[in-house]
Amino acid sequence: MKRGHPKQIFIRLPLLLAKAVSTTSFATAQGNTKPKNWEDHKLMTLTELNDAQRKIITDAVPDKATAKPIKTRKILVFYRCDGFVHKSITSANFAVQEMGRKTGAFSVDLADEYKVFDAENLKQYDCILLNNTTGMTFQKPSQLNAFMDFVAGGKGLAGFHAASDNFKRNPAAVALVGGQFAGHPWGGGGTWAFKLDDPDHVLNKAFGGQGFWHQDEIYQYQPDSFVGPQKLRVLISLDMNQKKVAERINDGPRDVAVSWIHEAGEGRVFYTNFGHRDQTFHHPVILRHMLDGIQYALGDLEADATPSASAPNHPPALAPANQ
Ligand SMILES: [Zn+2]
Repeated sequence: MKRGHPKQIFIRLPLLLAKAVSTTSFATAQGNTKPKNWEDHKLMTLTELNDAQRKIITDAVPDKATAKPIKTRKILVFYRCDGFVHKSITSANFAVQEMGRKTGAFSVDLADEYKVFDAENLKQYDCILLNNTTGMTFQKPSQLNAFMDFVAGGKGLAGFHAASDNFKRNPAAVALVGGQFAGHPWGGGGTWAFKLDDPDHVLNKAFGGQGFWHQDEIYQYQPDSFVGPQKLRVLISLDMNQKKVAERINDGPRDVAVSWIHEAGEGRVFYTNFGHRDQTFHHPVILRHMLDGIQYALGDLEADATPSASAPNHPPALAPANQ
């Protein structure tokens, strides 16, 4: 017994430490406690909206959908984060619920457990919306297959902001969204210029043919992951004609796409990088763009998804000069 004792301590100590770290929160240098798992994150970060916040969103959501639904539609809004958790998830979930309630264009189920990615369960939905999900990692190959087959089989995928920060081990799923997060040189504290790559496109109707400025955090994508204009119809990009935007990178100006659509098998994908901040979901014009994108993904709003590289060349609508 005695001879084994020191060895047992040597083995047990790291195990005990590992257990302590995995089951408790710890303080960061800033004094904030940092939760260790999704359930803790959810409780700490996704605080309920108050009545005033809900009213701002309700008032900003369009009263009417652009397209009449072809049939009764149901959306699965998935908001699980195994990486960074965006506080704006709560605003976005409510905004999408309100879009459905006010317009009658769809109903919404919210979910944050991977078990919903089951082929049988997904049959009831017409679109999956990834609301700021991060680090999504399917627990079983069947879940990845159910997700991929859902879109390829003719249904829709929509993504807000961090929807492009998932599936690191599944390049096909990254390609389905359109690109993989590679930092955000345009931080959420800044107001940035955006151009409409395709001012007359039906999914850009919200912007009235004008480029614009908006405060939000904007990603760039890992170059080898970004599907690009050969496959994507790019709707909105950062306006690199504005020094304030171009000076954030030292290898620019270069194109940084912000909203796009593409066809995937028989299905449709809409992605927008807008949505880091709660205030983006208070903005009637952005909400209209999102609703139109969702209706495209659902198959209710017809939109030209010819890749930008093959589409007739439209002059972009640039942002106004001064902000
Ligand atoms: Zn963000």
